This record gives sequence, C-alpha cells and structure tokens, in this order.
Amino acid sequence: MTAASPPATLRSLDDLVAAGVLDGARAASLGGVAADFAIGVTPQVLAAMTTRDPADDPVARQYLPTLEEATTAPEELHDPIGDHVHSPVKGIVHRYPDRVLLKALHACPVYCRFCFRREQVGPGGEALTPAETAAALDYVRQRPAISEVILTGGDPLMLSPRRLAAIVAALDAIPHVDVVRLHSRVPVTDSGRIDTALVDALRASRVAVYVAIHCNHANELDQPAIAALRRLSDAGIPLLAQTVLLRGVNDSVAALESLFRALVRHRVKPYYLHHPDLARGTGHFRVSIAEGQALVRALRGRLSGLAQPTYVLDIPGGFGKVPVGPSWIEGEGDALVVRDPAGNPHPYPPRP
Ligand SMILES: *Cc1c(COP(=O)(O)O)cnc(C)c1O
Ligand code: SF4
Repeated sequence: MTAASPPATLRSLDDLVAAGVLDGARAASLGGVAADFAIGVTPQVLAAMTTRDPADDPVARQYLPTLEEATTAPEELHDPIGDHVHSPVKGIVHRYPDRVLLKALHACPVYCRFCFRREQVGPGGEALTPAETAAALDYVRQRPAISEVILTGGDPLMLSPRRLAAIVAALDAIPHVDVVRLHSRVPVTDSGRIDTALVDALRASRVAVYVAIHCNHANELDQPAIAALRRLSDAGIPLLAQTVLLRGVNDSVAALESLFRALVRHRVKPYYLHHPDLARGTGHFRVSIAEGQALVRALRGRLSGLAQPTYVLDIPGGFGKVPVGPSWIEGEGDALVVRDPAGNPHPYPPRP
C-alpha cells in the first residue's frame, strides 16, 4: 500500500483547471499573464478562499491570476523599488548605511499577483550558489557599519533548515551584526514548513532574530498559520507583520481592523502597512495615498497602539521607504493645531 502524497502547490494554469479552481475558457485567455508572472497556490491558501472568484474573495484575489494583469499602466516599472541600483554584489541590496537585504533565493511558497518583485521571483529563480552566498557574507563581514541583515527573496523560509542554519550561524559569527530579520510568507501560506528543524535553524547564540510575516487579510490566519506563529513565538522569536494595502483585499477599515487585531492576538506586531508598489500589471490593486491616509486616520481612534503599523511608501526608483500617513498637526510656529482622532481641532500652546 502506498501512502497518499500530500496535495501539491498548484503551479500552472493547467494545475488550476485540473483542481477546478479556474474554468477552461478563462484559463485560455490567461496564457500571456502566466508566461509573464509565476503562479503558486498552496493547498492552505486554496482552503482559505471562501470562493474562487478574485473579484469576490480577499484571498483568491491575492493569488489567482486575472486578465487585469495583462494591462501595464504607463507609471509601472520593471524594478519598482530600485533594487538593482543598490546591488553591489549578487544577492545584496544596500540602500541604507546600517542594514542590507540578503536575497538568498528567488522562490516563494506562493506567487502573489501584486508582488513588487514579480519580475524577479519564480520557481526558476534559483538560490545563490555557495560561492555567491560566501561573497554576500563577505560583503557584510567587511563593513562594520552593517548592524542588521534582512533575509528576503523570494522567501528565506523556503531554504532548507540546513542552509538556513548555516546562514544564520555565519551572521551570528559577525560581531557587528546585531539583528537578523527574515521576511516571509511561509507562516501563513505553507505553515507546515515551520517545523522543529526550521525553528531550530533560527536559533542563534548572539544575534537577535526577528521574523516579519507578510499577511494581508485576517482570513489568511487560519489554524495552521496560528499554530506556526505559536511555534515561532514560543521559540522566543519576536514577530512582526507587513501588510500591503490592496484594493479589493483589505481597503476598508473593517478588514484592516480585524487583521491587525488578529495579528496582535497571535503575538505579531503590525510593523508596516505598505502603499502598493508600481509593479507591472498591478493597477487593479492600487488605492490612492489619500484613501490610504483616510483608512489609517480612522484606525487611529479605534485600535490599540500595538495594532497600528506605520503606513509607508517605497519611493519609486530606490530612494527609500518613508511614512506617508496622515498628519495630525497643522499650522506653523505659535499657531499649531492638533486634530484628535474624531477630527476635532485643538490649539497647542507655543513654548513659553
Ligand atoms: C525595506 C528595505 C529595508 C528595510 O527597511 P526598514 O525600514 O528597516 O524595515 C532595507 N533595505 C532595503 C533595500 C529595503 O528595501
Ligand atoms: S511571497 Fe513576497 S516575494 Fe514572493 S510573490 Fe509574494 S510578495 Fe512577492
């Protein structure tokens, strides 16, 4: 008797049709989209969809390809946040003096339809070779100003526990590195990967290891995800969340409120709410900054400070992330007025 193999990630239009997720006629119109952008839908993500209609379900919308992706708006860019202009060696992006990104691989558990690196990630996006990894680590080792290394990709938790442990140990041995931060979608899309071996790979003797999960809707926090977060937090790993503000997914006060409340409940601190980047074929996901500010303003009066991420924009072209939330203070000099969360103005006295 052979054991049934676990359900596999759906990786093509044919897979989606065979699984009954996409009808054949729609799949036929999506050939160009599938050729341009990778598809990846894990069984867990599929189970979190209440319908398979991207126009109707906040999880389906994040992962199922649509014809809207075939439209490129004039402002959209191949490299929306300017990774390439700041990449001194393969796998490293060094934009700020004190921290670097280390992109050890370009594979992800899922492929998000709004991804800001969608033209770099994919199942063919292989990992750094051992020599390339060594060169990237040397880059960090030779620069004492770097105190934080951010493992991203692709998704660093797609590395085998053995490779991940080797990278964490190498960084742990560099005295000027204080923090190793991993950004990952694995905890909420392929939670079973967060097993004992993987958690053990994140244990370092000296550096602080943080994990930032990427989560955009409360429906993504299903029972397997909650259990995976629990395994990470029980191992003493501080957890953060980054959320992308997406039209049709979470562009309402109710959706953001329930997401941020759920994250905090599961010991995850909402860190950033990202304004969507100008990635190719993602116009249908974009909201205006004014809409984002109105949402953030409304959340301020409703939620604990623990549940308030910073609303940020990655300036197109590689100029860095800046907060773009609403301003609560108006006027100048001695005529300052502060608004409370209900919108009422209050004069603030000048310094005597
Ligand atoms: C986002 C990003 C970081 C991390 O920025 P934080 O504000 O510290 O979260 C670092 N380097 C690059 C190139 C980035 O894009
Ligand atoms: S997991 Fe992250 S890098 Fe991968 S497709 Fe989604 S947004 Fe892009």
